[in-house]
Amino acid sequence: MEALKKCALTLSLAGALVFSAVPMNSTVVEAVGNGPGFGGNETINTSILTTYSEMADYLQKQEAKQQNMELEVIGESVKGRDLYLVKYMTNPENPTILFLTQQHGNEQLTTEGALEFIKHLGTGKMKGVTDNVNILIVPMLNPDGAMGDVDFSLDDYVASGDRNLTRLNAVGVDLNRDHVTKIQPETKALHTNVMSKYDIDYMIDLHHQGANSERDGELVSGSILYPTSPNVDEDVLEGSKKLGSIVFDAIDSKGWGHLGKYNGGNAETISRNGIAVEYGISTLLFEMRGMSDHYYESYVLGQKSNGYLIKQTVTTLESTVRAIADGSIDTADTSFWDTLAFQQTRTSE
Ligand SMILES: [Zn+2]
Repeated sequence: MEALKKCALTLSLAGALVFSAVPMNSTVVEAVGNGPGFGGNETINTSILTTYSEMADYLQKQEAKQQNMELEVIGESVKGRDLYLVKYMTNPENPTILFLTQQHGNEQLTTEGALEFIKHLGTGKMKGVTDNVNILIVPMLNPDGAMGDVDFSLDDYVASGDRNLTRLNAVGVDLNRDHVTKIQPETKALHTNVMSKYDIDYMIDLHHQGANSERDGELVSGSILYPTSPNVDEDVLEGSKKLGSIVFDAIDSKGWGHLGKYNGGNAETISRNGIAVEYGISTLLFEMRGMSDHYYESYVLGQKSNGYLIKQTVTTLESTVRAIADGSIDTADTSFWDTLAFQQTRTSE
């Protein structure tokens, strides 16, 4: 637990340094575009990221501290790691939102943000909010991939040190293509013990994308998309677009925030689509900039950007929870979707 504390401190310190390193008069665009990329020029040291067992300790500690919070084990990964569900269920009549992180093990800052948000929920800052909204959080659905404990070689991965992180689960399956058949234990646990068990209204599925996407000529801090399967109910889709509206307003106005529209597929094997169709849940995909590790150098983002990306996750979770709790999501303006441009991959520097 001490190790985790230290780790969290390192991350917020890194964040503070990033923020203070940006001159006060710098533009929005510079704040994002100048975020240090990897580009093969720095060492990617994954030891500053929270490990699976540090996360488990942290969650247990938060549960002991927070009266409203309940921690549940919903299943096990291929390699036998417990999969966690964090619950704030004040009133079954309340609207419910689910946050899902790290289906892809090498997309870890979303989990760091979720852990930070869980801590916030136990402080006066968020007092009273959980009276009017139920919150479910599944952090690190793919812990084996996150810890590099897999049955295939990670020799060509970029990160140095003793921990590599990979998209696929231990047996090489992409969990975010398993939402129809649900064969993998991780996906099965999610569907059996979360999706089927609770009356969920909204879900945000948190990921990371490559580091070099841009919108309107400037690098993005992330991208968002609603379900695009033709089988999604119209009301469900509208709820997804409202969820996106809350996120866009909260992020794009920040100095470090610049969002594009993600160009995603229609397959229902993808959670954004499949969960919207199967359960009638309004879903939103949020892809943060850059990954923690990969065999493609251009996908990996320098860890100096960790601060604003963790902040981006916390802001996303907090803004949507508040908008659902006070009902303002119901009147959210979805017209921005009509003009939001698809992000493009920057081809050369
Ligand atoms: Zn992903």
